[in-house]
Amino acid sequence: MNIVVLTGGVGGAKFLLGVKSALGWSPFGDRPASARDHVAAVVNTADDIRLNGLQICPDLDSCMYTLSGASDLARGWGQSDETWVVSTELAAYGADAPWFSLGDKDIATHIVRTRMLAEGAPLSEVTAALTERRRTGVQLLPMTDGRVATVVDVDEPALAIGTAPARISLHFQEWWVRYRATLPPHRIRVDGAEDSRPAPEVLEAIEAADLILIAPSNPVVSIGTILSVPGIRSALQAASAPIIGVSPIIGGAPLRGYADVCLAAINVACSAEGVGRLYGARAEGGILDGYLVAPGETFKLPGVRVVEAPLLMTDPAATAEMVRQCIELGALMDPRAGK
Ligand code: GDP
Ligand code: CA
Repeated sequence: MNIVVLTGGVGGAKFLLGVKSALGWSPFGDRPASARDHVAAVVNTADDIRLNGLQICPDLDSCMYTLSGASDLARGWGQSDETWVVSTELAAYGADAPWFSLGDKDIATHIVRTRMLAEGAPLSEVTAALTERRRTGVQLLPMTDGRVATVVDVDEPALAIGTAPARISLHFQEWWVRYRATLPPHRIRVDGAEDSRPAPEVLEAIEAADLILIAPSNPVVSIGTILSVPGIRSALQAASAPIIGVSPIIGGAPLRGYADVCLAAINVACSAEGVGRLYGARAEGGILDGYLVAPGETFKLPGVRVVEAPLLMTDPAATAEMVRQCIELGALMDPRAGK
């Protein structure tokens, strides 16, 4: 089976551990040599940021570190056994963005990536080279090789009393990491999206897939940004494989992060139903054939089979159970069945 997963960083990476487990692979490290199944992940790159001359790809790296077994699962991001010497020194120099911590081992990744990009390699090639060392078992495809960035329009913080607020645009990372999404967004947009195109193999993977899964990633700044790359949404609509989504919202709240603030910015209710309607039925121009929601949260969405299942990704085994439900639902909704 060829599985394609649309994913962001930490949440999506956890989901991918479950995909590997559901296929009988070890969640960490390479796929078994005998494996006949193949998993490709189309990864959000609109979070990417250049700091101190280094190109940082948080979602690709979260996937790479988590799937290879190098991530710090307790901290929730970055690598295990990290040290922070370089970040501390940079902060002492007053260098870029002291609010964005980079571990020493992590910095090595960014140096290699930035050097290869400077030599002319596209991000997709760089990613393939990095995962040559860190065996992920999953083919990581950046959504695009182009430079796109999520930008958040907000009122300028910390104004002198009595001055009218000026509207400024913050890079997503500054809004999310520095301000922890406390500055109410007027708008969240993806700079450079219209002129971008999918990275090599993205459209081909979608077309050749037997099952397409939408990870329970942030619907706006992970999945939404992937869909903003021209060609990806239409490839999903044309795909012969069933498309199954998983809600990142349980009990009306995200499990981690600020998806609630992101959804409010686009006037979508923070609920499994809100996200389901945002994605929409494939028959109605959306991207879903099936949708997993937490127990007790089902709703009617014409054209989509909505199924209740435990959605907590507490460990790869629990997540694998969830993925098995996706696989079953996919078989039920397969547009190719009976043809
Ligand atoms: P990021 O790029 O690192 O922010 O990660 P993603 O966008 O891939 O995933 C973030 C989303 O994962 C958040 O909106 C969370 O609600 C969701 N999430 C985290 N843990 C779980 C879980 O155990 N179950 C489900 N269903 N969603 C989760
Ligand atoms: Ca992200």
